[in-house]
Amino acid sequence: MKLNTDVIHAKQKLDPETGSHVSPLYQTSTYILPNFDEAVRLNQNIDQGFVYSRFGNPTVDEFEKKVAHLEKAEAALGAGSGLGAISTAVMSLVKAGDHMIFGDVIYGCSFALFTKILPDFGVDYTIVDTTDADAVRRAIQPNTTVIYVETPANPVLKITDIESIAKIKEDHPKIRLVVDSTFASPYLQNPLTHGADLVVHSATKYLNGHGTVTAGVIAGSKKLIDRCRMPFMQCFGAVLDPFAAWTIMQGMKTLGVRMERHCENAMKVANYLNGHPMVEKVYYPGLKSHPGHEIAKKQMRGFGGMMSFNIKGGMDSARTVLNNVKLFSLATSLGNVDSLAQHSPSMSHFDMTQEEREAVEIYDGQVRLSVGIEDVEDLIEDLEQALAKVKTKVVVEPELQFARV
Ligand SMILES: *Cc1c(COP(=O)(O)O)cnc(C)c1O
Repeated sequence: MKLNTDVIHAKQKLDPETGSHVSPLYQTSTYILPNFDEAVRLNQNIDQGFVYSRFGNPTVDEFEKKVAHLEKAEAALGAGSGLGAISTAVMSLVKAGDHMIFGDVIYGCSFALFTKILPDFGVDYTIVDTTDADAVRRAIQPNTTVIYVETPANPVLKITDIESIAKIKEDHPKIRLVVDSTFASPYLQNPLTHGADLVVHSATKYLNGHGTVTAGVIAGSKKLIDRCRMPFMQCFGAVLDPFAAWTIMQGMKTLGVRMERHCENAMKVANYLNGHPMVEKVYYPGLKSHPGHEIAKKQMRGFGGMMSFNIKGGMDSARTVLNNVKLFSLATSLGNVDSLAQHSPSMSHFDMTQEEREAVEIYDGQVRLSVGIEDVEDLIEDLEQALAKVKTKVVVEPELQFARV
């Protein structure tokens, strides 16, 4: 089937008993086992079946099979949040004494996990610009086991050529490539088809699309996912709740139409901002001026709904815009049908030092937008009136001072 049919129908479980049109929600923690011998076989993993919802649940299983299908993976594993997926995936691949490489622009809490927690467990790291495959190659050490890439990367939409990083593994068979594909969703990009070993998503974002749950998912080969499930997810316990899985599946039915509208609206908003006199720079891979434009065209089916832009006047101007937008909500999430805006330097990336931020172009006057699926004219009008307030302030202030004199 084609993609839009798949997001609705692929792996949907039918309920022969009732004919229920929507797959039932199995909101249960445990399962009644048929008899003693079978209970032993199920608990010891000799037979496959549901035993306890931290190991597996029919509703979560349906969600996992749907995502695996869309990501062209053998298997997938749901998680209670994107970070639950990321920590489980990465920690299933590293041990004390190992070294990992990750991109210089990644989600704030992933950065904190790799720089503040894993080093205490003996996992060393090197941060590189993953858009430069030679730099990644040079950073490899004899004990490197993981290369971790986020693309498109939060918040400046840096695009890494997944295939060029995957090629490096040919000379280093111990290395696994993990890609955070949250900003793209499985609708716009399938990292495994470009050579990644595991793809991770914050399903809180586009997969759900309505901002109602936190969730995550990992997809990859059956071998790697089995290891993520047991013992890692089994023991870390960052499991996906069945109701959250069920909720995401309702959201996923519109993934196709939502993503197409997100892309269409974002392109128009990016073009509008690009021509605005108060805007210094727009980071959107759909713009020809974006350094990742050609790679995005090659590895993605669309440019997505996320962008950042720098406003003249730094932090004060960003504050004015974020305090004056009416349709865009000031919120630190993304991928919802409603438009959201946030200030990356002080919100999602406050964990980095100013120096670290500026080295990767996260400036104080930067606002990140998650462009929703509203009528784009209304979104542009909202930005127009909020940006106008900045202009007024910059122009009027000297006059006020003059008047006071
Ligand atoms: C939100 C996000 C995460 C973390 O996901 P949670 O569901 O909030 O745990 C990880 N990576 C990216 C790119 C994100 O946007």
